[in-house]
Amino acid sequence: MKVQKLLVVGSGQMGSGIAQVAAQAGLQVLLHDIKQEFVERGLQTIARNLTRSVEKNRITEDDKQTILSRISPSTDLADANDVDFIVEAVTENMQIKTDIFRQLDEICPPHAVLASNTSSLPITELAAVTRRPEKIIGMHFMNPVPVMKLVEIIRGLQTADEVYQLVEDLARQMGKVPVSVNDFPGFVSNRVLMPMINEAIYCVYEGVAAPEAIDEVMKLGMNHPMGPLALADFIGLDTCLYIMEVLYEGFGDSKYRPCPLLRKYVKAGWLGKKSGRGFYVYT
Ligand code: NAD
Repeated sequence: MKVQKLLVVGSGQMGSGIAQVAAQAGLQVLLHDIKQEFVERGLQTIARNLTRSVEKNRITEDDKQTILSRISPSTDLADANDVDFIVEAVTENMQIKTDIFRQLDEICPPHAVLASNTSSLPITELAAVTRRPEKIIGMHFMNPVPVMKLVEIIRGLQTADEVYQLVEDLARQMGKVPVSVNDFPGFVSNRVLMPMINEAIYCVYEGVAAPEAIDEVMKLGMNHPMGPLALADFIGLDTCLYIMEVLYEGFGDSKYRPCPLLRKYVKAGWLGKKSGRGFYVYT
């Protein structure tokens, strides 16, 4: 099968980026969210990114218009009835994701592949709510999607080899480098990254150092391009908390317990950059 029409469900920071790289790769894209204003926000982000690429002479104004013309808005999941491929990029919450997978399985054509951009949730469990577990797969892009090269591809227990191959080819077509991993909580990227971020939050919580100092230590001392707390703000503190909960529950190991300060910030609505406040303040 050749993927021609792709639906992205969720037009937040990840979904809009995925829609952009898919359109840049020549695919017809539907960008879906629950409200028109959310889809429009996603489309505006894409337009802004492309304008920046024009200014940097990476693409022409004509390229920008062609790419934008390949992306159509959607607020009705029934639009999935003629797509070849779906990337789900909604909030990191199992209940929301399983509801969507169940609905999409009913709506989309039998040949369609359903991929999730989940950061940590079990692909096998998502597959189990559908009648096509062999066509369910994890396609985990990194943030910001237009910039970051890696795509972790996660095989569920029943994912077919030809579906894996299709996703690997699609990732390459989007200019990405696919890496194959198996279905365990947090996969590789977040199993390694999130405990480090959580530990940095514990350092703030226990008064070991201020956020700026912790980030400086990791940047200058470990050569990380971004400190863990700035990175947590960038990822979204709600997403970080969901991922820690998945690791904690999935492994049943206390070393993954989310820091109480992370819970407190999320309860306060301090979600990082997207809400204007996290470990840092964004104006
Ligand atoms: P986000 O909060 O920016 O966007 C989520 C979007 O999903 C919102 O626009 C929301 O309206 C929409 N949504 C919620 N319920 C929906 C539904 N029922 N139907 C349609 N849309 C719905 O979050 P994000 O950072 O883009 O994360 C999305 C997914 O990508 C999560 O699974 C997350 O774990 C994963 N991810 C995030 C990052 C990151 O750095 N933020 C990196 C890799 C993967």
